[in-house]
Amino acid sequence: MKNPELTDMSPEEFREWGHRSIDWIADYLSDLETRTVSPDVSAGSIRAQIPDMAPDAGEGMDRIFSDMEKVILPGVTHWNSPNFFAYFPSSASGPGILGELLMAAFNTNAMIWRTSPAATELEEAVLNWLRQMLGLSDAFTGVVYDTASVSTFHAIAAARAAISERDIGEDGMGGVGAPRLCMYTSQEAHSSVEKAGIALGLGRNGVRKIGVDDRFRMDAVELEAAIGRDKADGWHPFCVSATVGTTSTTSVDPVEAIASVCNKHGLWLHVDGAYAAAAAILPEMRNILAGCEHAHSFVMNPHKWLFTPIDFSALFCRRPDMLKRAFSLTPEYLQTQEGASVTNYMDYGIQLGRRFRSLKFWMVVRYFGVDGLRRRIREHIRLARQFGEWVEDDSRFRLLLPVQFGTVCFRLKGTNEANEQLLESLNRRGPIYLSHTNLNGDVILRFSVGNIRTTEAHVEAAWKLIQTAATELED
Ligand code: PLP
Repeated sequence: MKNPELTDMSPEEFREWGHRSIDWIADYLSDLETRTVSPDVSAGSIRAQIPDMAPDAGEGMDRIFSDMEKVILPGVTHWNSPNFFAYFPSSASGPGILGELLMAAFNTNAMIWRTSPAATELEEAVLNWLRQMLGLSDAFTGVVYDTASVSTFHAIAAARAAISERDIGEDGMGGVGAPRLCMYTSQEAHSSVEKAGIALGLGRNGVRKIGVDDRFRMDAVELEAAIGRDKADGWHPFCVSATVGTTSTTSVDPVEAIASVCNKHGLWLHVDGAYAAAAAILPEMRNILAGCEHAHSFVMNPHKWLFTPIDFSALFCRRPDMLKRAFSLTPEYLQTQEGASVTNYMDYGIQLGRRFRSLKFWMVVRYFGVDGLRRRIREHIRLARQFGEWVEDDSRFRLLLPVQFGTVCFRLKGTNEANEQLLESLNRRGPIYLSHTNLNGDVILRFSVGNIRTTEAHVEAAWKLIQTAATELED
């Protein structure tokens, strides 16, 4: 071969390092539980070990790999650990990791059907599977984005495009005498809703935060009153974002009641089920999506609780034509012969280039099967409920809410400082990792079971560590 130094790594070297990488990953995954989830490093300490300038001459994989172990690995938070109980789970299962590997090898850019027919058609097919798994009607069409934040942004953009009196795509948000747009969500909604409002020109003032009941669910009566007030004051309400599984407490908003308010006032209903909607693949949990059949758009994240490596977020939309109205713009070089007979996903969002995300999800669903996914999620819910019972049986702790999904909200009956100290000491000493929230001024601990590698033994061991840390705090 001429000038091999001007082409890629040789196939032989790739093969050798491919084998070594997979061996390394298999070892890493199998002894993950012995590692402390959250690294004990100070800010800037990783950066300080990385040269300020890129190397002029190429380096051998041996050196690069050894630096990965010495410099990078000590600063990694192990989201794939069975002892990761913080935030919401996000686990990369074996088939999902292999899917990512193949995605990188193909390196397709599925901006239009022609630039990778398989990527487009697999995306259509697996989203159809997921729609059925969730029990959503075939009135919904799916699109994959990277995250729920981006899915929600697109949903609200579609809602804005659906406003019949305005052509925002053409005229922008201005216009003499045009009433200001506003939308509604609850005080407990994820910050991504407000961010979408900012990005879409509503301003933070245009995103109303409706109050919640004692279980942190949106108050549909207050919602309707707010819409009435805003209309009377000359605002133009256009959208409501409800949540199935809020970030702090996994509360489920009364979507049915919210949908009838939306229907009455002609508002677009978006539902954020980023985390909890995965539970709807269980027939016995389908009811968590009651009312969602009336939604115009609905987001859930297989990268949270369906064992697919980050990133993979699915937006289901009953008006994909509105996504298209908001985002379709085809320069000459992207015109193709196929016309309307194919889907060109670039028409449904802000980005042109798109990863082949459907491949990893396809591999995950085929490997575990819907039944295998169901059994795992069911087990996580059982373990979380079990953990909740242990909390209730220990008089030093209080369970905040009944456990609905895989997440438990609880606290020591003491002060906020005591709860902060407990969390700090647990996360610092490892191996487990928890996170917190604040409800009505109280610091609350969150224990979320959802990693694919977590078993009853991990949950039991974690509870013992929590009890021991609480006892030490008393001393
Ligand atoms: N919606 C809810 C209810 C969430 O809990 C989260 C994150 O935890 C998000 C949206 C944002 O998810 P992403 O990181 O995929 O943007």
